[in-house]
Amino acid sequence: MKEAVTLEPGRIELRNTEPPPRPESGQALLEIAAVGLCGSDLELFKGTDPYSHFPVRQGHEYSARIIGLGPDYDGPLVVGDLVAVEPLLPCRHCIACRRGHPNCCVNLRVTGGQIDGAFVDQFIMPVTNLYAANDLTPAEAAFVEPVSIGLQMVSRSGVQAGDQAVVFGAGPIGQSVILAARERGARILAVDRLYQRLAIATELGAERTVDDSSDDVAGTIKEWTDGDGPVVVFEATGAPGVMRTALEVVAHSGTVVVAGTPTQEVSIPPFLIVYKELNVLGSRNNAGAFRGAVEIVRKNRALVRRLITHTFPLERVQEAIEFAIANPHVAEKVMIAVSEEARVAGAVAAEGVGRGGS
Ligand SMILES: [Zn+2]
Ligand SMILES: [Zn+2]
Repeated sequence: MKEAVTLEPGRIELRNTEPPPRPESGQALLEIAAVGLCGSDLELFKGTDPYSHFPVRQGHEYSARIIGLGPDYDGPLVVGDLVAVEPLLPCRHCIACRRGHPNCCVNLRVTGGQIDGAFVDQFIMPVTNLYAANDLTPAEAAFVEPVSIGLQMVSRSGVQAGDQAVVFGAGPIGQSVILAARERGARILAVDRLYQRLAIATELGAERTVDDSSDDVAGTIKEWTDGDGPVVVFEATGAPGVMRTALEVVAHSGTVVVAGTPTQEVSIPPFLIVYKELNVLGSRNNAGAFRGAVEIVRKNRALVRRLITHTFPLERVQEAIEFAIANPHVAEKVMIAVSEEARVAGAVAAEGVGRGGS
């Protein structure tokens, strides 16, 4: 059995590992199918993720085939099912877990983050982390996790049909926010500095886009909202200065949802939070959004396929990460095909759209 382990910043080693033990009660043995690369994977690889520790096996956006189920399982899943895997393992007893927020568990372990992840042939997970996705391809099912992040942000925001919302950052998380907010009927203006990403935002249903590197962002937002400002602003860039802009442009009584994670301290005007009576909310992982995320992917398969721009086999995962870091203007979601099934599907998809890393 193969696994790819990040030994230190900039170095991933492919090595042999023992197969996992038999699944215990409540667990499933998985054959990993496809694994998406996330911005946080690139940061971890570079050594710039504040939570990184080495060595670690990365991979937290993944799909799998069930190849074994623990004894006494009587739920709806069966061996052979393709599943989207929720990567979070909360402790279930801390203050956040007791209050129904396992996504920000004090002792949270994320497979592919705090503990080993999916860059491996086989893996054991609790069955409660598995969501059947037999009608999706392995890569589409692996896309459920990033969509769950966007759906969590949208749920936090309370955005409603007809509301005008601004999304700062049209990368993978911003794209998921647009998909989830469009499902609710919100009107979207997207801000980014890569024109390719603005073009994608338009395809996903953004009604207006603003190029942060050249346009007057605040002026355009003001004009688009007839001077009111958007009732919701989503911060999905992690760029330190955006937090201030978000507070400045958001409508009085509006909501700012923050999911970008700059590690630098930033200066913001707290006066605006009081004066406009703003809701300023963090959003992390997802709490109960996974099933809804499967539905969003299911309803938007063509768009999701459009966002999966490259596929590499597991043996070339380091090359894939280096490629994604060096080519943010062309690499949207880069997939790692682990199983033979995902490789074949990835190669077919790459041929179908005339591109792909392998
Ligand atoms: Zn991620
Ligand atoms: Zn907990």
